[in-house]
Amino acid sequence: MIIYIYIFIIGAVFGSFMHAYVTRLLKGESIIKPGSHCTNCNHRLKWYENIPLVSYIIQGGKCRKCNHPIGLDSIATELLTALLFILVYLVFGFSYKTLLGFVLVLLLISVFLSDFKDMIILDSTIIVGIMLIYLTIFLDLGVWKGIYKSFLYGVFAFVFMFVIKIIGDAIFKRDSLGGGDIKLAFLMGSVLPYNLFLISLVIGSMSALPYALYISLTRKTNEVAFGPFLTIGLLVTYLLQNPILEVLDLLIRKA
Ligand SMILES: [Zn+2]
Repeated sequence: MIIYIYIFIIGAVFGSFMHAYVTRLLKGESIIKPGSHCTNCNHRLKWYENIPLVSYIIQGGKCRKCNHPIGLDSIATELLTALLFILVYLVFGFSYKTLLGFVLVLLLISVFLSDFKDMIILDSTIIVGIMLIYLTIFLDLGVWKGIYKSFLYGVFAFVFMFVIKIIGDAIFKRDSLGGGDIKLAFLMGSVLPYNLFLISLVIGSMSALPYALYISLTRKTNEVAFGPFLTIGLLVTYLLQNPILEVLDLLIRKA
């Protein structure tokens, strides 16, 4: 039980950091300076005003100085990160796969915050994400079984996505996929072998469909942020990789 509380707290802290990191970078601010402050009155937060989840609840979602509402997205991010961390631990237990899963959760959080808000995926997110993923793979499987294989799958996924973009651009006569989506594909391929990568694309596209319909019906644009749905496909496929591989195995044997 105590381990779940630990993981929940760690998740909330990371979620809090991710929220600050993305919102600051999108506004062109530095990540470290100035310290945490109220975006309305610039009141510098004391440590006890900056505890993930807890401070928000105690202060009723308002700045203690100026009563400006803090916005639900910060506490939602902290809560979601904490819950997803627990979900990853429930699936993989104490292992490198859990560590890698945590990285994928943070990736999802970052892409959700930046792509829905500003239609971009931050380059720093992709770069740091790839570095952490390859570090974990190296620790788990070493160079040949781990890094080498992941890199090949990553390149496959990158090329695959690039070809889809070229075809999509030709059909729709506009940018069909953003550069961020293609870089994201390399990262996805580094984590998932090619068969699982293709399944993650299917899951991602299916989860994007209701949102895309909603956007094209309610707004004049049909530009849809696709990155968040790619990260959903990635995380879902990663968490379900064992059952999915078993089903694929059964299908191949029957054929
Ligand atoms: Zn304030």
